[in-house]
Amino acid sequence: MSAHRQPVLGILGGGQLARMLALAAAPLGVRTVVVDGSPDACAGQVAPLRVMPWNDYAGLEAFAHEVDAVTFDFENVPAETAAHLVERVAVRPNPHALAVAQDRVIEKTTFRECGIPTADFAPVATREELDRALAQIGAPAILKTRRFGYDGKGQFRLKSLADADAAWVALGPQASPNGLILEAFVPFQRELSVIAVRGADGEFRTWPLTRNWHVDGVLNLSLAPAEDLGNLQAKADALACVLAEKLDYVGVFALELFVKDGELLGNEMAPRVHNSGHWSIEGAYTSQFENHVRAVMGIPLGDTGVRGLSVMFNWLGELPDPAPLLRATDAHWHDYGKAARPGRKVGHATVCAPDAATMIARLETVSRALGREAQVAGALEVLHAG
Ligand code: AMP
Repeated sequence: MSAHRQPVLGILGGGQLARMLALAAAPLGVRTVVVDGSPDACAGQVAPLRVMPWNDYAGLEAFAHEVDAVTFDFENVPAETAAHLVERVAVRPNPHALAVAQDRVIEKTTFRECGIPTADFAPVATREELDRALAQIGAPAILKTRRFGYDGKGQFRLKSLADADAAWVALGPQASPNGLILEAFVPFQRELSVIAVRGADGEFRTWPLTRNWHVDGVLNLSLAPAEDLGNLQAKADALACVLAEKLDYVGVFALELFVKDGELLGNEMAPRVHNSGHWSIEGAYTSQFENHVRAVMGIPLGDTGVRGLSVMFNWLGELPDPAPLLRATDAHWHDYGKAARPGRKVGHATVCAPDAATMIARLETVSRALGREAQVAGALEVLHAG
């Protein structure tokens, strides 16, 4: 009998996304190996962890020999690291797609080339350029770092032109070498995301639109499928498909969208599985994690249909007492195995239900028991209105 060699997926970054990818890969018979700079990376609790910095090229060489394909839990892997690996092994998504998503100016420029509308924006590298950008875009506006910003970090909101000095004090020191971007503030009615997947053969699928609520720039709660919004699903799917084709993308990505007066505006893309798609683990026939593994390993994609409604709570800073959720029907607890730290994503929970009335009852019970009534207020409003 010949030994059956299992395919191996390498994951750059060892956070909760890598952890959930590894857990989804196992039933497919795909082994995972994770690279992270920290020995405490939480994916290391479920998959072999290779601890090394991104510029350890000898270490990366050995890693490339271990795996059949490489993917990311983290989009800010240096371009040099991706370039080194792409010479040795299949890197999915490709380093160009990663580079586009790493820089907000390139990202929004690419969106526009794809016909994805965006807020007005301008690159800013100096104090004078900030004044020029403000004259062009007006206020309110948001000044952001072009690179390395996430979850509302590296952002300053300008209510009026008089805030220019304060904005420059806050972010001016980060203007070099990577630059800043000034964006018009979008007075949106809703935030949505479309999670999409493109296979190595070009097959393209999306999950139903997700409605997202953020607090201080960080995702707090998601509801999927989002309320019926006319033909926004078809529009979002079409925009995501154009983007995926343009980038020759393979794997899962998220396109974050604002809805303003019934129109979609692209905010940013995440070139990886995304927090707003975590509900799909229990709420969809195939989760974003499983389909990402399938896509990057060249396995046929799975059905992205949903079983019913899902609501995902993000646990930031520390976990609540899990007992009320563990006792609830069709409620699912995810502890990432990370140390508590203010603002840190330490876990999530998903409550599923076959219909809106059942979801309302489950959310009311669970949120009261957890003392999280405020967190579900927006979702309850949508469900009651539906
Ligand atoms: P980001 O890191 O760009 O995803 O921003 C985090 C959050 O800040 C978004 O989910 C929005 O809630 C808010 N935000 C970012 N950019 C804008 C904008 N141009 N107009 C209004 N709100 C924004």
